Amino acid sequence: MLRVAKHFERTDTGRQRRANEDSYLARSPLFAVADGMGGAQAGEVASRTAVEVLQEGLPDGSGSIEERLAGLVREANARIHDLSRSHEEHAGMGTTLTAAYVGEDELTVAHVGDSRLYLFRDGRLERLSRDHSLVEELVREGKLTPEEAEEHPQRSIITRALGVEASVMVDTATHQVRDGDVLLLCSDGLTSMIHEPRVAEIVARAASLEEAGRELVEAANAAGGRDNITVVLLRIEEVAGPDAGPPATEQSTVTGVAAPRVAAVRAAVARAGTRGGEAQARRRGPASPRRPVEPEARPPRRRRAPRTRTALKVLAVTGVILALVAIPGYFASQTVYFVGVDADGFVTLYRGMPYDLPGGIHVYTKNFESGVALDALPARVRTTATEHKLRSHDDAVDLIRQLERGQVAGQ
Ligand code: MN
Repeated sequence: MLRVAKHFERTDTGRQRRANEDSYLARSPLFAVADGMGGAQAGEVASRTAVEVLQEGLPDGSGSIEERLAGLVREANARIHDLSRSHEEHAGMGTTLTAAYVGEDELTVAHVGDSRLYLFRDGRLERLSRDHSLVEELVREGKLTPEEAEEHPQRSIITRALGVEASVMVDTATHQVRDGDVLLLCSDGLTSMIHEPRVAEIVARAASLEEAGRELVEAANAAGGRDNITVVLLRIEEVAGPDAGPPATEQSTVTGVAAPRVAAVRAAVARAGTRGGEAQARRRGPASPRRPVEPEARPPRRRRAPRTRTALKVLAVTGVILALVAIPGYFASQTVYFVGVDADGFVTLYRGMPYDLPGGIHVYTKNFESGVALDALPARVRTTATEHKLRSHDDAVDLIRQLERGQVAGQ
């Protein structure tokens, strides 16, 4: 039977933000990190609301833990969305949410956005979540390498968030975990500042979860601390269940082994970055010297949200040419909008992302053209139409209406 032996959590504003819009939950068996976004403290409200809903615990019901956890996350989405509709100052707010539930036999994960979940086992680092971010979508489409994605200036743009729309797709997965495993949930303020091999090194060398957590936050700050940083660390242990064998008595260090060689970590990270690589990395991982008769880990069962699975199937069967046609549609189906200026010089609402892929493929579609010409706007508000900030539909429409009425205050 699994149990959380110890956990440590810490959140830090970082060095450049005025407020901390991250929230976390560390109440065994449920752990979560939420990274809020939205002006005027709305991001704080969104991430805090997500965590408050999770605190209510899994709903009763006959479904699997995955289904019940996803239900709870959808409830958080609805609650945040309602708040953003009923309070003007919270319009367009949203949050990421990565939640991990340590059950009796398995780890269940629900995830929206780009906060991450990592597993440390036998000195190796494995990422268990996939970012819903622009760069990760492009990596999956083969348009960017993972290395390019890590350095990409738009790496913090996410394609899915809680609260932005009335409904949300939630990715869920179930993983086999075992005694000595360490889990790390973190906001992108950690992983956008320090690379994964460095994360692995810090955790592997630390004498305790607390030391690991403090050093991770320190390292992200030392690298610039451009965003809020949140880390939640927990160590799993196996204890005798109702019908289990003798209790596990061994004492673990943070990851159960000495510091890994960075090359080994890199290899694990590279494998984890490929589809199916997770299962491979697990099977290839050497058994811990103190657990010589480790049964082979079962690969995780991963379930994608239905719409994503359909989209991927469509991409797979229509081949390269049709896939190229489908990609813009795929991005357009995402729930983000931006305000820009069309070829005729008029302020326009676009759905999708303000980027062109190689080959001149747009990942946005024109939604409607306003009657406002960019030239007609006062110089001080022109940037609001050209900065291509990602917005919710309502937020973007509001902005255009304000531009039409000449109501936008200049920055
Ligand atoms: Mn962040």
